[in-house]
Amino acid sequence: MICVDNLFTGVRSNIRQLLEHEHFEFLRHDVVQPMLIDCDQIYHLACPASPVHYQHNPVKTIQTNVVGTYNMLELARQVGARILQTSTSEVYGDPVVHPQPETYWGNVNPIGPRACYDEGKRCAETLLTDYHLQNGVEIRIARIFNTYGPRMAFDDGRVISNFAVQALTGKPVTLFGDGQQTRCFCYVDDTVDGLVRLMHYEGDEASEPVNIGHPGEVSMRQLAEMICEIVGAPFEVDYKPLPTDDPRKREPDITRARRRLGWSPRTELSAGLRRTISDFSQRIANR
Ligand code: UDP
Repeated sequence: MICVDNLFTGVRSNIRQLLEHEHFEFLRHDVVQPMLIDCDQIYHLACPASPVHYQHNPVKTIQTNVVGTYNMLELARQVGARILQTSTSEVYGDPVVHPQPETYWGNVNPIGPRACYDEGKRCAETLLTDYHLQNGVEIRIARIFNTYGPRMAFDDGRVISNFAVQALTGKPVTLFGDGQQTRCFCYVDDTVDGLVRLMHYEGDEASEPVNIGHPGEVSMRQLAEMICEIVGAPFEVDYKPLPTDDPRKREPDITRARRRLGWSPRTELSAGLRRTISDFSQRIANR
């Protein structure tokens, strides 16, 4: 296995336990530059996923999603590899269909602050599909809904890591807007299991997108209350403005993943949050 990362948001210590493995190799490389290595499967996950990080340099984010995906597709074409693209629930934008099935085309602002990510990921899906139709490249597209779990960065900027670090360090939680907006959070082990199953899926419709997410919808206020309760911290809120174009709700319809991959998430939010908070707590203690 060859792991490629430019370490913009990742850190080497996250793969410490793999570095000594005889079948594991790490390459520091940015997918915006072409690459040629021998491989038979490509899991293309490259791109910052937190709004704070992907909006830091939006042009670079589009490059990563479009030029980076083009480079990975060229690699797949040249070596005959199958490629799995980690797309996103962001392709649905601020959805007017709820929950979202894969057949929904979305409601996305092409010139908003999230466009570098969501339009970039939409274009990447188009590129994959056209490489499949034009060049016969074997493609898989997973639309991931808000993954979380141990080893997220303290400064990741997404909601679960923010609330966990704030509650553990005695700070009020930063709730954006009135906190009534919803998301669905999928524990990382379940997401990875879904990706591996999709990569190996062989059905006729295998090149179609598949939602990978947990259907349990939760408001940001409920999430903040849950995290404070697990930590044993008082529920204190620092209200901040709702960011522009922040989707009001989001929930995956996972009928396709259930039927085709036999996949559904196993980890309930409360159990996943406990594991994630325990990991943050240990790292804070060792800082
Ligand atoms: N959010 C919040 N406080 C934070 C960070 C995020 O209330 O400190 C909200 C944000 O406005 C959004 C939701 O939590 O409605 C999920 O945000 P995140 O950045 O984790 O993911 P995304 O918006 O990309 O789904």
